[in-house]
Amino acid sequence: MKIQEILNNLDLSEKKKLYSLLKKDIGLTPQLDSIKSELNKDQKILCPHCHSADIYGHGVYKGRKRYHCKGCKKTFNDFTGTAISGIKKVEKFQEFLELTIKSITIRKAATQLDVNVKTIFDWRHKLLSAVSTMNGTSFSIGIVECDDKQLDINEKGQRHLKRDAYKRPSDRETKRGVSNDKVSLMVATDRKGNPVMRIAKIGRIDVKSIEKTIGELISNSNVLCSDSHPSIISWAKGKDLEHHTFIASKQHVKNKCYHVQHVNSLDNLYERWIKPFYGVATKYLPQYLNWFVFLEKVKKSTNQIDDFARAVMLNANAIKQYREIEDKYLELNPPHYS
Ligand SMILES: [Zn+2]
Repeated sequence: MKIQEILNNLDLSEKKKLYSLLKKDIGLTPQLDSIKSELNKDQKILCPHCHSADIYGHGVYKGRKRYHCKGCKKTFNDFTGTAISGIKKVEKFQEFLELTIKSITIRKAATQLDVNVKTIFDWRHKLLSAVSTMNGTSFSIGIVECDDKQLDINEKGQRHLKRDAYKRPSDRETKRGVSNDKVSLMVATDRKGNPVMRIAKIGRIDVKSIEKTIGELISNSNVLCSDSHPSIISWAKGKDLEHHTFIASKQHVKNKCYHVQHVNSLDNLYERWIKPFYGVATKYLPQYLNWFVFLEKVKKSTNQIDDFARAVMLNANAIKQYREIEDKYLELNPPHYS
């Protein structure tokens, strides 16, 4: 029988089923189980609770190898703490990794995988917590470009919070035209395609929030390029960094290499990427920043899904980070009850 003939006789839902079976068979959908055993070969198994290496095998439970830690006396398996722990529909979750690489919205993913929106929402934020480690790795030697960026605070889904209304326009305006109902981000990148995008604070950036977001990633071997924001200037001075500043309307490039074009283009890419998600709640913004930075980092990879699956299985802190989303937001933007 000719394969083409078989195909012609299938309806759309049968074709979709065949596609997903083929992907699994040829190995396009990452099998998180086998990725974890592969990773285990290269590195010591550590207890996800206390990081002790003093562990021993403790049988098999629900098809997963179990371990017991001599240090903290707790048991765990290969998935404890990772984004996949507690996921029941593992096959679909694995397919969702691919949809995440494709930046598909929650609603579309729910339809495509035939899983409800709430579950997909949960999966999304578990996976994005897992790649948080990628958003903030040290810059490589050489030029680093940085910039700040303001976004409106979006309190979608925070209905129980009451905030004082701003009475006069002067109440909300601060000096450089950045009001306190905006959230500031720091965006930075080296020249090796290693970007970082992190929330700095509510209102305009200052030395402390710049240090908090990119301070530990930069060293004296870096040369900083930015606009002439006074806080960036005094922060760079304090860090003893060689610093070149640019005014958008004037000089664009110094000595053929000093400029801020990479960080500007990163910002443009982000704006284009985030658009289909229609106003992300500020609470989830760090998650979307993790997502964007991760995609930027793997964009030249030949096997992005495998890179993603590996990152997911390597982060045994993902569930903890996922549970901290709400607290981190309250810390950033505490409610003012009237
Ligand atoms: Zn332990």
